[in-house]
Amino acid sequence: MAVKTARTKITFECTECKNRNYNSFKNKKNDPDRLNINKYCPFCKKHTTHKETK
Ligand SMILES: [Zn+2]
Repeated sequence: MAVKTARTKITFECTECKNRNYNSFKNKKNDPDRLNINKYCPFCKKHTTHKETK
């Protein structure tokens, strides 16, 4: 039986320095909107908001 996944690869970008620090997957059915997460940015050397990019 074939397994169909609705998971989409997404990248999280620091909103302060614009570096792409994190890759993840999400289910578009569960999360149709762009995600924002608070993550540690090694470039800013602090926790910043990371937004989802394509
Ligand atoms: Zn940053």
